[in-house]
Amino acid sequence: MKRSKGSGHAEAYQPQAFDIAREQFGMETALRRAIDRGQLRLNYQPIYDLSSGRLVSFEALARWRDEAGMEYLPSDFIPVAEESGLIVPLGRWAIEEAVRRLAEWDARFGGDCGVKIAVNLSAIQLQRDSITPLLQSALTTHGLPGSRFTLELTESALVTDPDRIAGIMHGLKGLGTTIAMDDFGTGYSNLAYLQKLPIDILKIDRSFVTGMLADRDKVAIVRAILSLAQALGMQTTAEGVETSDLAQTLAALGCTYAQGFVYARPLEAEDAYALLETRRH
Ligand code: C2E
Ligand code: MG
Ligand code: MG
Ligand code: MG
Repeated sequence: MKRSKGSGHAEAYQPQAFDIAREQFGMETALRRAIDRGQLRLNYQPIYDLSSGRLVSFEALARWRDEAGMEYLPSDFIPVAEESGLIVPLGRWAIEEAVRRLAEWDARFGGDCGVKIAVNLSAIQLQRDSITPLLQSALTTHGLPGSRFTLELTESALVTDPDRIAGIMHGLKGLGTTIAMDDFGTGYSNLAYLQKLPIDILKIDRSFVTGMLADRDKVAIVRAILSLAQALGMQTTAEGVETSDLAQTLAALGCTYAQGFVYARPLEAEDAYALLETRRH
């Protein structure tokens, strides 16, 4: 509804801002319903060991398809979930679903299917919820050890209350989990936290990895992260590996793990399980 009165830009901008707010609210309502009705699911992107070529884990990535069949990506709904507090039930669901799924895969496989699942944790979720007892209880319910899971945190988790987050990370490590610092290199410039926190893996953000072969600066950043990780006794995962040349270069540079479209996009659970089955032979 554009009003004809007046001519300022502010006038023209108003209805637009209103629409954005309304759309956010609409999405929040829809997301709340989707969580309640179980319309979210996890897709699984394989992660490979670069030196052996072995499939070692799957990263669980949330997906949402609404009643009309419209598919939303995390970049659409995770920010809404974080602003509205829905990240708490969403994050709880993701942990429980990932644990349930790995137990199901083991059962079908007839024993330990040999991979871990990595679950993303949002900074806001860590501030507002108690993740450790939740994970502990899911593990007990499904009879799995914490060592079958990786938790991916971003540096933004460390900004507001680093001591509290450090405590949470130690609690999670106490369950036997692997801790990965996600999107490393894009967040926080104070690297002092690296020596204080129980971090096992640095995940090199895909903004440095994809297209790296044509960009000396990116190569320099990736090399620096790899040597930092090595010096600190941490492993590394490169995200966004889209070509086999890139995978070979990363392997030669000593990167531990890789994920990306050259291997597979995030897969539906059934397709991920099929990939596990092919590994048997
Ligand atoms: P992330 O944790 O850094 O996940 C990696 C993202 O990179 C995924 O996007 C994945 O599909 C994408 N990706 C992987 N390989 C390639 C590649 O070769 N090329 C390109 N172009 N992209 C690649 P996705 O699934 O859209 O997820 C985006 C972000 O949303 C994730 O980034 C993560 O921060 C967040 N997210 C996803 N699921 C959850 C969840 O359950 N909880 C929370 N808190 N955050 C989640
Ligand atoms: Mg991640
Ligand atoms: Mg990442
Ligand atoms: Mg990333």
